[in-house]
Order: sequence, then C-alpha cells, then structure tokens
Amino acid sequence: MLSHTLIKNLLASTTFGTEVNARGWVRTRRGNKNIAFIALNDGSTIHSIQVVAEMSKFSEDLMKKITTGCCLSVTGDLVQSHGKGQTVEIQAKQVEILGEADAETFPLQKKEHTMEFLREIAHLRPRTNTFGAVFRIRHHLAFAIHKFFNDRNFYYLHTPIITGSDAEGAGEMFHVSTLNAANPPRNPDGSVNFAEDFFGKETNLTVSGQLEGELGALALGLIYTFGPTFRAENSNTPRHLAEFWMIEPEMAFHDINDNMDLAEEMLKYLVSYVLEHGADDLQFLNDRYDKELLARLRSVTEKKFARITYTTAVDMLTTSGKTFEYPVKWGSDLQKEHETFLVEKHNAPVIITDYPREIKAFYMKQNDDGKTVRGMDILFPWIGEIIGGSQREENLEKLQQRIREMKLPEKELWWYLDTRKFGTCVHSGFGLGFERLALFVTGMSNIRDVIPFPRTPKNAEF
Ligand code: ATP
Ligand code: MN
Repeated sequence: MLSHTLIKNLLASTTFGTEVNARGWVRTRRGNKNIAFIALNDGSTIHSIQVVAEMSKFSEDLMKKITTGCCLSVTGDLVQSHGKGQTVEIQAKQVEILGEADAETFPLQKKEHTMEFLREIAHLRPRTNTFGAVFRIRHHLAFAIHKFFNDRNFYYLHTPIITGSDAEGAGEMFHVSTLNAANPPRNPDGSVNFAEDFFGKETNLTVSGQLEGELGALALGLIYTFGPTFRAENSNTPRHLAEFWMIEPEMAFHDINDNMDLAEEMLKYLVSYVLEHGADDLQFLNDRYDKELLARLRSVTEKKFARITYTTAVDMLTTSGKTFEYPVKWGSDLQKEHETFLVEKHNAPVIITDYPREIKAFYMKQNDDGKTVRGMDILFPWIGEIIGGSQREENLEKLQQRIREMKLPEKELWWYLDTRKFGTCVHSGFGLGFERLALFVTGMSNIRDVIPFPRTPKNAEF
C-alpha cells in the first residue's frame, strides 16, 4: 500500500492522474444510488477533499457503513475536480473502513450545534471545522511565541508548576498534597501538620512563573517562560479559566519603556504571524462568525498602541460624561467596562502605566511620588486586559518595606530577595495570557472555546 498523503498536500497538488492514498474522517456524505460524494477531512487543513465513489465498484455492505464520523482509508486517482469550490478530488478505487461510527449515536450531525453543546462533547468537538480551525491557530500562536523569543536571543526557562511560595496567590491557589484529606496528621493546636506532607511543607500549583523567571533573567539576561498556571478564583466569566497558559518574559537591563516596546512588538508579531500562517482558518472564522475579525486583526498590527498613565485614564473616564456600573475613583481598579471605554476612545490597544501602588503587587518598581508604581496593563479591543507587567523593584530596602506593609511572608521569599542582595539591576517583565490572545485572534466569544479541555469551576470532565 502507498503511504498516505496529508489532505492539505493533496489539495495543493497538480500531479493529476497519480494514485494516492488519503486517510481521515467523513464529514459529510451525499449522492444517490449510483454515486457517493464523501467529504474527507484529516485535520491537516480546514478543507476537506472530495472522494467520488461509484457505488457499483464497491460492496453494498461497505457503502452502508460510510457515515458521518467514520474513519476511512481511500486509495484512488487524484483528478481535477469540476465541482465548485474545489480543484482536486479522488476517484476512489479502494475504500477501507478503519473505524466505523454508529450513525444513530454519533453526536456531531450536519446541523449547527451550539457552543454550549459542543463543550459537553469536548472529546469530539475537535472534529468540527470550527474547533479544527481554533486548535490549528492555537498551534501557530504557540510556535510563533517560541520563534519570536528565540530570534531575539531569549532563553526558554522552565519554572516550577508546584510551588512552595504563596506570596502571589492571595488565596486563589490550588493546594497540592498527598495527605489523607479525611484524616490528616495534626499539630497539637489542631492545625494540619504539613511537615508530614510530601514536600515537608505546604505546596500549591503556581499562579505565575514570574518570581522564578526573575532569577533566570538575573543570570541569563533575557528569558521567557511558557507554561500552565492555575487560579482557584471563582470567576465564571467568558475570560477566566482555572487552568490557563501564560507567557512571561523577564529582561535584565530593561525599564518600563523597553518593557512596553517589547510587549507591543510581540503582540503585533504574533497576530501578523497567524494572519500569514493561519489564513485559511481565519478566513473560515471570519466568514462563519465574525465579519470584522480579519479587519480587527490587521488593525492591531498597524496601529501604534496608545500609552497613558492610570491617572490620565481616570481623568478620561470621569470627564467622559458616561455613567458606569462601577464608579470611577482614583485608587480603585479599572473594571472591564472602563477598559472597553478606553480602548474604544483611542480606537487602538491601550497601555496603561503608573498604577496606584495599593492595587498592584509588591514587586512593582515604586515611583518617586510615593503613590504609584511602574506597572503596565495592555488592553485590547474585544477582550480587555491581555497583558499585565511591570518594571520590578530592584532596591532591597524598598522591596522589604513593601512586603512588610502588605504583610507577606518575608521569610519564605528569602531566595527572591537574595537577587536584590547579590548583583541586582534594573529589570522588567510581563505576563501574556495565552488563551486571552487566542480569544482575540480567533474571535471566539468564550475562553472555554479556545483551549481543548477547559478547566472552570465545577468542570473537569475529559
Ligand atoms: P484579570 O484582572 O483579567 O483577572 P489579572 O490582573 O488577574 O487579570 P495577571 O495576574 O496580571 O492578571 O495575569 C497576567 C495575564 O494572565 C492577564 O493579563 C491575562 O491575560 C491572563 N489571565 C489572568 N487570569 C486569567 C484567567 N483566570 N484565565 C485566563 N487568563 C488569565
Ligand atoms: Mn484576575
């Protein structure tokens, strides 16, 4: 038997008359008692190849079993197609059913299914055109991230998934333990004795690789992480997952302006990369769901991002004449509705800097005004916050003072503070939520639909 050829390559081929073998899953079948037209898709591209089978050449039993969802190996001649919208098809000479799919119970039918229903069959939804497109785009984005950083002399650093520090977690961490939950060993005062736990201390799933990333930057210069992060926040929104992937570059000798420049360049690069390499899939999503998608993506690659301070943002909001559900006041965090207003007002992505220190993490570089820190959030059209970052506080005393003010476990952070004792320097970094980026690029409306197997409150099937 011939070794099989990817359908993506067959569709691009012009060597008509040659015998080929394709393998994939039946998307649709139509025809009559003389001839069957089978749309075969193998996931290599959004496009299916048409297989033409003359009924008389095959047994009745075989032809009966060719239903939506079954897996086929088809051998035949590659010929020019006269059907509209396709250039090549396969004139079948041999058809083998590799895996039958019971037509009565196969849940993906020709009619359109809701996204909610498809989430309930997350094990099969990759077989739809929509999810095939989304997951191929997800791949292109992931690949582009590594390429972007590798081309710019960054090293990929693997930070731990299980962490012993909860300085960043603020009660939103998943505990990791091998103790018997029903009957854990206890201290005399009744509290759980974690000294007997697997790691000899309390441990959690990481919410961010940043603190360890900083250790890397102060040795390798330019690093990035790209791994899973976990947040036990009970936010049932279309933009939050309990398990999501984060990209966190960390750069020695970069101040907040260098940080913004890198983030803007990266986002433009990633969107441009997918416009080029995921063109077919994006076109499909554009036509099917969101006619503005391609225009919105191009606009992000072309427009200069607006850069304003938090104080300016608050002024713009309070003088806008608009009433917001959440009132705007200097010192409180911006809500989604405020972010949306600012992005629409600028008609471009917006980078907000110099936030009140009370609403930001302890490690952000303190400004001389004593009130604000050199944090930066990047707000995107459609989704709001896509990146959170900052210049890091490199001064040991200021960092310790902030840790004490915020009542954080200073002792546990000894290794982090050591970097400020031994060869500290100006440095910066940020975190990009991978699924927020995928949400923006695909134009899907819920973050659960851009990750193969979403983890959200009360949902960890599959
Ligand atoms: P938000 O205010 O939207 O909850 P955050 O301030 O908690 O975001 P950071 O802690 O700064 O976010 O995390 C960095 C990035 O990670 C965010 O800009 C966002 O892109 C992404 N992110 C944060 N939380 C989630 C989540 N629960 N699910 C998916 N992505 C997330
Ligand atoms: Mn959050």
